[in-house]
Amino acid sequence: MPNEIWVLAEHQDGKIKKIVFELLSAAIDFSKKTVQEVAALLLGSGLEEAVKSLTPFADKIYLMEDPVFIPYTSDTYLTGIAPLIKEHQPSILLGGATSTGKDLFPRLAMHLQTGYVPDCTGLSFGENGKLVAKRPLFGGKVFAEIVFSEARPQMATVRNNTFLVNDKPDRTAKVISVSAQIAPSIIKKKVTGFEKAAGAKLDITEADIVVAAGRGIKAPENFKIIEDLAETIHASVGTTRATVDEGWRDLKDQIGKSGKNISAKLYMAFGISGAIHHVLGISTCKTVVAVDTDPNALIFNYADYGIVGDLFQIVPALTEELKRVLASE
Ligand SMILES: Cc1cc2nc3c(=O)[nH]c(=O)nc-3n(C[C@H](O)[C@H](O)[C@H](O)COP(=O)(O)OP(=O)(O)OC[C@H]3O[C@@H](n4cnc5c(N)ncnc54)[C@H](O)[C@@H]3O)c2cc1C
Repeated sequence: MPNEIWVLAEHQDGKIKKIVFELLSAAIDFSKKTVQEVAALLLGSGLEEAVKSLTPFADKIYLMEDPVFIPYTSDTYLTGIAPLIKEHQPSILLGGATSTGKDLFPRLAMHLQTGYVPDCTGLSFGENGKLVAKRPLFGGKVFAEIVFSEARPQMATVRNNTFLVNDKPDRTAKVISVSAQIAPSIIKKKVTGFEKAAGAKLDITEADIVVAAGRGIKAPENFKIIEDLAETIHASVGTTRATVDEGWRDLKDQIGKSGKNISAKLYMAFGISGAIHHVLGISTCKTVVAVDTDPNALIFNYADYGIVGDLFQIVPALTEELKRVLASE
């Protein structure tokens, strides 16, 4: 009987991604209800720090240490992971809905002839301990709850910032080294290098501080004052669907039900009314500051600090004051 929940421990240069700790935290909660062990699946080389950071979050770490896994390619990961899954038959395999997760998981599911739910915004357990994967459909108009009838493992990729990271994880993982059998002939792709997009800032899902403006900003060029504020406090810039639909901002910066979930320590919303579709994406932010001219704007129901006022006066004044304070530190 399969009795392990596995999480793919995706990393960048040996630094484990936050979504991995979120998934392991959720897996620990599930494991208590369903008496399963939690395992991290780690591939790459030079992974001492990665192993150390994963140890309190899992009962086991399946470690495939081999430079062939650097950088990621679906050929090597698929060939490394698939036999291990067949051997151990975990009941669940989870990963982040990242570019790696979105590339690898469908291939793996196809190879294993099992079910896969992409881009989930929630996971729970239903009848007989079966995984229930929740995901938006039709641009977020409806949410589907999907149950895996027979096929195992139950596979899902989950959006960033869906779960809180357990700040007191209490496991002590046993490391199980697995040798990778990767014949050079299976590697059909070669990564020749990485290029950072010009002016790229930290993605809103990873940023500690996010400043965002909605339709209240009135025109795309007015985002300049939001960008100046962001620059001053090393924040990333988010937005609402209203401005994305207007073509003022890119979809990758949209926060909310049909955009991204963020989990910033500080979220500042300017000229954002606080529609439910938007605030669903900020539910794990620690401190929310809102500025809106309408005292009845719904955003104030979710804000820790609110200012009723004109963003065109408040944002430049705030930026100047923050520059002054930061310069004097
Ligand atoms: C299926 C579905 C999915 C959706 N998904 C998303 C999603 O993922 N993310 C999302 O954001 N929305 C989403 N929406 C849209 C959502 O319902 C709202 O329409 C949208 O969030 C509103 O954006 P907004 O707050 O920028 O604009 P508005 O609701 O128009 O609010 C603008 C605010 O600016 C204030 N304002 C105006 N001038 C000023 C000023 N000078 N200074 C300060 N404040 C000012 C106004 O008082 C108002 O409160 C979705 C809708 C549907 C139907």
